[in-house]
Amino acid sequence: MLTQSQLVELLADHGQPSYRATQILDWIFKKRAKSWDEMTNLPESLREDLAGKYPLRPLKHTLTKGSKDTTRKFLLELGDGRYIETVLIPASPALYGERSDRHTLCVSSQIGCAYGCKFCASGLDGFTRNLSAAEIVSQIILAEELSGEKVNNLVFMGMGEPLANFKNLCVALEMITSDWGLKIGGRRITVSTSGLVPQIKNLAELPQQIRLAISLHGPDDETRDKIMPVNRKFPVGELFGALRVWNSKKNQKITLEYILIDGINADPEHAMILAKRAASIKAKVNLIPYNKVEGLEWVRPSDTACRKFQNVLTQAGISATLRLEKGHDIDAACGQLRLKKEKGTL
Ligand code: SAH
Ligand code: SF4
Repeated sequence: MLTQSQLVELLADHGQPSYRATQILDWIFKKRAKSWDEMTNLPESLREDLAGKYPLRPLKHTLTKGSKDTTRKFLLELGDGRYIETVLIPASPALYGERSDRHTLCVSSQIGCAYGCKFCASGLDGFTRNLSAAEIVSQIILAEELSGEKVNNLVFMGMGEPLANFKNLCVALEMITSDWGLKIGGRRITVSTSGLVPQIKNLAELPQQIRLAISLHGPDDETRDKIMPVNRKFPVGELFGALRVWNSKKNQKITLEYILIDGINADPEHAMILAKRAASIKAKVNLIPYNKVEGLEWVRPSDTACRKFQNVLTQAGISATLRLEKGHDIDAACGQLRLKKEKGTL
């Protein structure tokens, strides 16, 4: 899978006119060709040439968990025998917004993750490799094919740290948002990060009006250090400096993701500090009761404690949603399904 400019360059190398690029992009993104053979308006020699080098379908569907009306999780096999997960969440008004006819897809950006947050299944087995732009974009194409639904909202909240795969992320975003590509508007795309400061500043420079979510999970260094090793490199103060830079470039409100873990970060005192932090960058907060991960000891607070935490924020004037989780029963926390598959326990 290639971008428009990559294709134009490649076709020039093959002595082909540039209008072929439009034809090919049309086959890939509009007609959803599964093989180069289908592109009958291209010369056969060109098709054969490209087919050897650029597989159109780098992912193979292995398994679906969940039912048509609920969250569906697709386990996908990559060319090298590894697995990633993509989660399709049907109409979910509580997630990032107003519309209720949205189909949100949660995509992975890496195999595993190097950041090792202590509550997260994706980090449990370490980092394997980055996904290519084609592997990122193919998740959307495949999810649409498997579900028969158009993905109209996208979150980079699957496996991996998207900002640690910055180059491929940017190429994927170009394919996803362009008129010649999947044509999903920047405002319908949320990139989530554990807080890579330099990359947040770089992301702010992109032309697309994408949304930013920060996996904060601790309102101060003391709390965040306990569960997110990345905080030692980019402490809370520096992170919020980068978020102010983001705000100076983009209009969309930042979302602070906050997992509630009993005895770690879920006391009313934490909520008070969080409220101040959120107010300082005009962010909204998304509270997520911790989702049990096999092999990890953390537990979620009671529903009452979660609501109390939310109330502290609301009373401080911060818009805070408490996510009534979907997909809790299908290993929906990122990385869980793939870990089971790779360990042979699925
Ligand atoms: N690496 C990026 C993108 C992955 S997003 C990031 O961390 O932002 C995955 C989201 O799910 C993050 O907000 C992460 O903190 C959250 N998450 C991870 N493990 C979880 C668990 N066990 N329960 C609930 N949320 C979890
Ligand atoms: Fe990686 Fe994000 Fe999981 Fe942390 S929360 S280990 S950064 S995927």
